[in-house]
Amino acid sequence: MNIQSKPPHEPPRRIQVAPGDNVAIVVNSLGLPAGTAFPDGLVLNHFVPQGHKAALADIADGAPVIRYNEVIGTARGDIKRGDWINEDNVVMGTAPPLDRLEMATRPPPKPEPLTGHTFEGYRNADGTVGTKNILAISTSVQCVAGTMEYALKRIKAELLPRYPNVDDVVALTHAYGCGVAINAPQAVVPIRTLQNLAHNPNFGGEVLVVGLGCEKLVPERLLPEGKGAEQGGDILRMQDQDGFGANIAAILERVEARLKILNQRKRETVPASELIVGMQCGGSDAFSGLTANPALGYCADLLVRAGATVMFSEVTEVRDAIHLLTPRAATREVAEALVREMRWYDDYLDKGGVDRGANTTPGNKKGGLSNIIEKSLGSVAKSGTSAINAVLSPGEKVRGRGLVFAATPASDFVCGTLQLASGMNLHVFTTGRGTPYGLAAVPVIKVSTRSELAQRWADLIDLDAGPIATGEKTIEQVGWELFQLMLDVASGRKQVWADKWGLHNDLTLFNPAPVT
Ligand code: CA
Repeated sequence: MNIQSKPPHEPPRRIQVAPGDNVAIVVNSLGLPAGTAFPDGLVLNHFVPQGHKAALADIADGAPVIRYNEVIGTARGDIKRGDWINEDNVVMGTAPPLDRLEMATRPPPKPEPLTGHTFEGYRNADGTVGTKNILAISTSVQCVAGTMEYALKRIKAELLPRYPNVDDVVALTHAYGCGVAINAPQAVVPIRTLQNLAHNPNFGGEVLVVGLGCEKLVPERLLPEGKGAEQGGDILRMQDQDGFGANIAAILERVEARLKILNQRKRETVPASELIVGMQCGGSDAFSGLTANPALGYCADLLVRAGATVMFSEVTEVRDAIHLLTPRAATREVAEALVREMRWYDDYLDKGGVDRGANTTPGNKKGGLSNIIEKSLGSVAKSGTSAINAVLSPGEKVRGRGLVFAATPASDFVCGTLQLASGMNLHVFTTGRGTPYGLAAVPVIKVSTRSELAQRWADLIDLDAGPIATGEKTIEQVGWELFQLMLDVASGRKQVWADKWGLHNDLTLFNPAPVT
């Protein structure tokens, strides 16, 4: 079947985001063929795939292409009204200069509080609240990863069934710890990530470190501050034991002692303000900025009103929209911190010989995103409309409440790992192209941008934001649905698909320091 030559199968639908835009997005799932006439007289000159842009007016060579009321590039050659616009006929501009931004000029006022919403969580001694009851075993070096895999099989088969109130046992394995420049200035990023990962609210405050014995990252560095070496049997070094069997026995013994403690925990009713939600997107398409991300942004505003903490991240997907964010900073210091993180990442990419344009994938482009500018403008819709209260460098622990920018790479696995270290107890992931992404440590709610994906992947997508594109639901409706779903998932009343299948991606550290 060649849809490109077939007549339209349903009334043609398009979405123009802002009145000043000179492009609109085709909504129809199979795209629209050349010759398609809209009621207002717009006639398509080419086949335009779903999610791709059609020109609403003639755009002369070099003139701006406008979506979200922002310039996403300039025309390469004359573009006629009704033409298909894609990465081939849009020239990407430079990122907004960092020295001419409005700094904390328009912080939104404190929103009306939203009260009465609760969830059932596990209260920790440090005041944080878990959405799961998990035992995490930290590791100080990659050398022990295989041992931990073996130990986990035994733990899950022999121990975990005896402690039904414990949801899971996970090993925080990674590729760091040795063979690295441990004293390099940027080594602070992977080290603090590992330190803070161990204290994620879903791990109940029980810290056990398994190390090798000769690694550069000494296991003591992963203990809570103020706790001495060996205190409470927190550290186990493989080189101290006689043989593999003795190591496994020692791990199982220490794990069981902690399972006994965690098994006594019970969920209790806590206010929604105890949620620490990490937001990100992956496999984005042109609908990300129309449906799932705006709905998540609306939900983020609800969370902020409820007193919760909400993190948005992904520096390369924020960089081109930074001029929209610095005015929203609560204070000048926060705006300066935003600029500091952007500048750090510009330099990081520059040293690697690329710029933020390296972010976009073939799938993004197939999904209608012409470049990183268009992708970023859709990505930051996740942040909603609240004041930005704080900025975290990669892997730092979250401070305060409200909307927080946690600077991370956009890579799904790296971003998720860093948000875990920052202390998220719930993750929301929007996707247009589709991904089975999941994390062992926290529930991941996956939201699709298009109904076609939600239907094809009905056993992977937790919430469909697609009906926003067809007008069947509003952004507000889906935002509220997501808010309720978050409370259900955080309470353990509903299980996300990634947890039903046990789909859990590896932790992936961000290490900007040299490997030796
Ligand atoms: Ca991502």
